[in-house]
Amino acid sequence: MSTSPAVVVRSDACLLHVPGAEIWVGVRTPGTELPERATRIEDALRRAGHAVVDAVGHSDDVLLRVHDPRLVEHLRTVWSRWVEAGFPVEPGQDRVVPYLMPTAGMLDGLPEREPTAVHAAAGRWCYDTMTLVGPGTWEAARAAVDVTLSAVDLVVGGEPLAYGLARPPGHHVTKAAHGGSCYLNNAGIAAQALRDAGHGRVAIVDIDAHHGNGTQALFYDRADVLYASVHVDPGAGWFPHYAGFADETGRDAGLGANLNVPLAEGAPDEQWLAAIDRIVDAVAAHGATALVVSLGVDAAAADPESPLQVSHDGYESAGRRLAALGLPTVAVQEGGYHLDTLGDLVAVTLRGLAER
Ligand SMILES: [Zn+2]
Repeated sequence: MSTSPAVVVRSDACLLHVPGAEIWVGVRTPGTELPERATRIEDALRRAGHAVVDAVGHSDDVLLRVHDPRLVEHLRTVWSRWVEAGFPVEPGQDRVVPYLMPTAGMLDGLPEREPTAVHAAAGRWCYDTMTLVGPGTWEAARAAVDVTLSAVDLVVGGEPLAYGLARPPGHHVTKAAHGGSCYLNNAGIAAQALRDAGHGRVAIVDIDAHHGNGTQALFYDRADVLYASVHVDPGAGWFPHYAGFADETGRDAGLGANLNVPLAEGAPDEQWLAAIDRIVDAVAAHGATALVVSLGVDAAAADPESPLQVSHDGYESAGRRLAALGLPTVAVQEGGYHLDTLGDLVAVTLRGLAER
């Protein structure tokens, strides 16, 4: 066995997104996807001795093939449009917050038009009220893409393992809609970039406590990218509520290339790691030659955002089990909200992933 510690990619610009709030059931709450998450993780990884490098700028090429260019343009411009429309002054809303989402039930078959008003556009491209846009949101989300693509470059260049300290996270973003504290889908962009670099088949393993409905949607009808996730059962009342069920197995050419392993509230290491073992088998059967890990650490027992009860040892063991696949691996940060423990959780997971 050899160990080769993950090279860590980061960017100052990932700190520019300050959510300001989350609107949950109509109530303005402080929000948990804070810039300090990234500084805590970086501190822990520097203490653990990782090489840390700054992200390199990349073009929009992969980004625009993964996402609808209209979503990208919306995110790039919506804050300035919001300011121009005067909302921070009257009625005094300092973040972009949707008030109307054009659901399938509302449209009932009508075409989804491009609204002229910015306050309507907010709900055209964002599916919840938890994922607000402020002055630095676009810069941070776009920097997270550069972090991700720089990590991909390292792995394509021969590093066995690279970690992108991407913030904001991304796995809830579909082709044309963002939500769940996410703006651009970093893991999906990593998988597409690895495909473009010549890997015929890629697997995305999502160990965040929540189902990555966005990543699933991006690849649901594709055979070349396997999406496999262990997460708290959405049917037990957890975000994203409408996706992440075990019977979602892919569509058309992608049938069989999607694996969801939902767990009951309170699931401990034993059940979580059994799910990881199922996922490892699926990755091997898929024939992937590269791996993307959506590395959320919010399944940890101390995390306030999920009821799963995974320990530090559980996270390290998950890393080790995934490393046993022997695949070049790009890990990207997803969730994890308990500031006092999330840095060490990422560090032990990367330690496990480095054992090969
Ligand atoms: Zn999560």
